[in-house]
Amino acid sequence: MEVVTVTYWGFDGKKHQGQIVVDRRLAGEVKQIFRDLEAAEYPIEKVVPVVKYRWHDQSSVDDNNTSGFNYRTIEGPGIRSKKLSKHATGRAIDLDPYYNPFVSASGKSPRRYDPAHPASLTRTSRAVKIFKKYGWRWGGDWRGAKDYQHFEKP
Ligand SMILES: [Zn+2]
Repeated sequence: MEVVTVTYWGFDGKKHQGQIVVDRRLAGEVKQIFRDLEAAEYPIEKVVPVVKYRWHDQSSVDDNNTSGFNYRTIEGPGIRSKKLSKHATGRAIDLDPYYNPFVSASGKSPRRYDPAHPASLTRTSRAVKIFKKYGWRWGGDWRGAKDYQHFEKP
């Protein structure tokens, strides 16, 4: 894993610096993705390694923290799996997760997904297009359940 220092536009309209932990082999690419997000002026509230939340994913999500590596299984509202998440290998990033919730196939979600919020990710968002340009997959494209915050590199 590698700690990547990134610059981003905060919700306060100012530039901030944060840190995200990802697979060492993706470090350069992730740095470039954040440069592109910055150029696109996509607003990010905070970028702090999940260790600050004692590796508790839900706390990080509730705090709208953008994060990468977390050694954990796949989890979500009503989901308990023994399979490791792509976050466990540092090959996934959750972007502004509070505003981009996980929505189950039956439409259950811990929060309302409001596509009008500036940090909300939709199929036409420049942020989504930026990740896809680098070959990342977006959870908003999944069939059935959708995970709007989630990007992963196959
Ligand atoms: Zn995720």
